[in-house]
Amino acid sequence: SKTVKSDIEIAQEAVLEPIGKIAEQLGLKDSDWEPYGRYKAKVSVDTLEKMNDKADGKVILVTSINPTPAGEGKSTVTVGLGQALNKIGRKAVIALREPSLGPTMGMKGGAAGGGYAQVVPMEDINLHFTGDFHAITTAHNALAAFLDNHIQQGNELNIDPRRIVWKRVLDLNDRALRHVIVGLGGRTNGVPREDGFDITVASEIMAILCLSENLVDLKSRLSSMLVAYTYEGNPVFVRDLKVEGALTLLLKQAIHPNLVQTLENTPAFVHGGPFANIAHGCNSVLATKIGAKLGDYLITEAGFGADLGAEKFLDITTRAGHFEPSAVVIVATIRALKMHGGLTKEELKHEDLDALARGMENLACHIDTIQAFGLPYVVAINHFIFDTDREVAYVKDWCASNGHPVALAKVWEQGGEGGKELAQLVVETVEKQENNFKPIYELTDSVEDKINAVVKKVYGGKDVEFSPKALKQLKAIKKNGWDKFPVCIAKTQYSLSDNPKEIGRPKDFTIHVRELKASVGAGFIVVMTGSVLTMPGLPKQPAALNMDVDANGKAVGLF
Ligand code: ADP
Repeated sequence: SKTVKSDIEIAQEAVLEPIGKIAEQLGLKDSDWEPYGRYKAKVSVDTLEKMNDKADGKVILVTSINPTPAGEGKSTVTVGLGQALNKIGRKAVIALREPSLGPTMGMKGGAAGGGYAQVVPMEDINLHFTGDFHAITTAHNALAAFLDNHIQQGNELNIDPRRIVWKRVLDLNDRALRHVIVGLGGRTNGVPREDGFDITVASEIMAILCLSENLVDLKSRLSSMLVAYTYEGNPVFVRDLKVEGALTLLLKQAIHPNLVQTLENTPAFVHGGPFANIAHGCNSVLATKIGAKLGDYLITEAGFGADLGAEKFLDITTRAGHFEPSAVVIVATIRALKMHGGLTKEELKHEDLDALARGMENLACHIDTIQAFGLPYVVAINHFIFDTDREVAYVKDWCASNGHPVALAKVWEQGGEGGKELAQLVVETVEKQENNFKPIYELTDSVEDKINAVVKKVYGGKDVEFSPKALKQLKAIKKNGWDKFPVCIAKTQYSLSDNPKEIGRPKDFTIHVRELKASVGAGFIVVMTGSVLTMPGLPKQPAALNMDVDANGKAVGLF
């Protein structure tokens, strides 16, 4: 049998087109983009306005069942579907999130698709890329520095140092920085106070960059960010510190979407990467909208399962970006379904139709969710080479007998060629199925009603319980007039409930709301459930232990 090549080996063998050629194929003019080396470019935000009169391509969202340690391969299917659509004669553009160095060095390794469905240059994309995350980190920490300096220089705004809600960030998993004390060392070294670090992808600035429609919108959102409360309990915003101009300036390059290509030279935007739990989990609205103008189909992905990423894409992102999706692809793997049916990772190698049958209920829930949003959908089975024919047939039959369109995708193994069945089905579904898209709640609903709507219609839960702290925060949110924002629920990705151990399709559960936070600039209310961390830690054996670079600068072990 042939040996299986690693993602990085496949990526390093790819023959890339100069990025100018990809831009030209998209119909972009030289003045629309700026090269970042040979294989990366930034496409100017102005191109969107210039294409105002052009019709939009169809936006296809790729989501999945609840993730398991077996892996689902959403990015892989997103890239493979884009490649396959081109193979069947449709002009497809892909939009993905930029990977964060925290998970890359920690648990996950690279995040640029896999096998023969990857975006390249994968090393650059997985490391410092075009510097967007560094720019966001710097803007975020600049604001923290301005805030501490304001207090040091006399605290004219009367900020209560115990009620500062703006922390610092770093694009790494570093648990030791979750709680820190800053300002130690006497008068000249600041005012001592408790502080902490979040990971950059959890920064509100990351969310804002991904929801902004242009530089003016970016600046207006940055100026509305809440940073602290005064001793009287009044909110303090960025505009009170008068630094929104400086923050926007630090982001003036980062706002332009990055253009790269896939292994088969399909154009792909890779731009922005907010967390899919405490933020909305989708690439920038600008990348999606520009890509949709340039192609007949724009394929994008939202983080984690349909309960988190897709729900937020459909309730938050489409509203901020004023666009409508055409269809949803729900990715499932036989392996992950078997884990939802109760198997451990070690037990996955053997055929087990009973476990598979039990696991189907997780997929069923996510199908119900997409139906509740009124959208056409397709189930994609992301094929692993050791899936048995009988297992594949079982999933296909289950879908057929329940009336769900389904296709087997072999894009990891075969690239676009292995995704033709899926691409055909997506095209047919978009062209034939009715689209009755509607968000799951109205913005005018109360915050409690919005949370209840998601818990009942998406998670399949019974009830919502608010902690005394959350109830107090709810009052403040109403008082300040922030209750018309959509809700961004932070929940474990592993379960439909807030308990990561409840796999499959748990029933009759209660969601526990621990805390609420207004992201006034991003324009959503973060609802913390269970115990969601905003600064992850590293595992015992971080992925970094396998990484190296040889004497010629070639990367090793980046998956
Ligand atoms: P997600 O987007 O759901 O996090 P990815 O697409 O990033 O998942 O894939 C995660 C990992 O799983 C990658 O290393 C990828 O190569 C691997 N993978 C994905 N699909 C397959 C498959 N069909 N067979 C083998 N490995 C796969």
